[in-house]
Amino acid sequence: MKRLPTTFSRTLPQIKPALHGLLDLLFPTFCPACGIPVPHPQLFCFDCIRTLPPLPEHHCLYCGTTTSGPVLGCGSCLLVPNRPDRVCFPFTYTEPIARLIVQFKFSDRTEWAASLIDLAMERVGDLLIWEDLELVVPVPLHPLRLVWRGYNQAALLAGALARRLDRPLVTNGLYRIKMTRPQTRLRQKERLINVRNAFTTHNDVIANRTILLVDDVFTTGSTIWSATRALKKGGARRVVIFCLARVDH
Ligand SMILES: [Zn+2]
Ligand SMILES: [Zn+2]
Repeated sequence: MKRLPTTFSRTLPQIKPALHGLLDLLFPTFCPACGIPVPHPQLFCFDCIRTLPPLPEHHCLYCGTTTSGPVLGCGSCLLVPNRPDRVCFPFTYTEPIARLIVQFKFSDRTEWAASLIDLAMERVGDLLIWEDLELVVPVPLHPLRLVWRGYNQAALLAGALARRLDRPLVTNGLYRIKMTRPQTRLRQKERLINVRNAFTTHNDVIANRTILLVDDVFTTGSTIWSATRALKKGGARRVVIFCLARVDH
């Protein structure tokens, strides 16, 4: 990648607030939840940030199900081989985050990736920093779906996370080899069958590495668990899952 001239990169942090001020003046942005103006690069206004639901106090470390007390995993996760080593969700899939994710995913609001990750890091940053992560890997789209949609929202989130965590973004370690049907129209059992063996890996890229696997929404987890299994079979040492929001069942 082309490097910025040293003097420019040194002065950039000092001129950033002035640049944001100029952007606010020229291209004002508005909180997508309540419509009031917000300063760059903020996404929601402070009042709406305060209304975001808190994270569950206790949950299964592998699927995120709320539990009544501090346990490692729920009954259905503990016996599953090649499961993720930890899951991390900054938000539950409720308004106003849900609407934002839909627009980010289907309405080309790709510029929101960094702001969404900034907001997420305020809630789960400590947890991610404690994990000894080596690579950041997005859940890939099938190449045909990528051409159709034009971008992979998981890769945009993974890129923003990689920058925040100062870890390499790796897009050639995990591949989708099966054109799956959209999961939203399927029941849980059908979802599992739909994504079974949907992924493969480049083992020399991911073997013996601790990986942060990134996607946007965790519904039943069947897609990201299938990707996790492929990474583990390919030799990954640990797989930590990051999904922006989890659907509360
Ligand atoms: Zn607001
Ligand atoms: Zn569980």
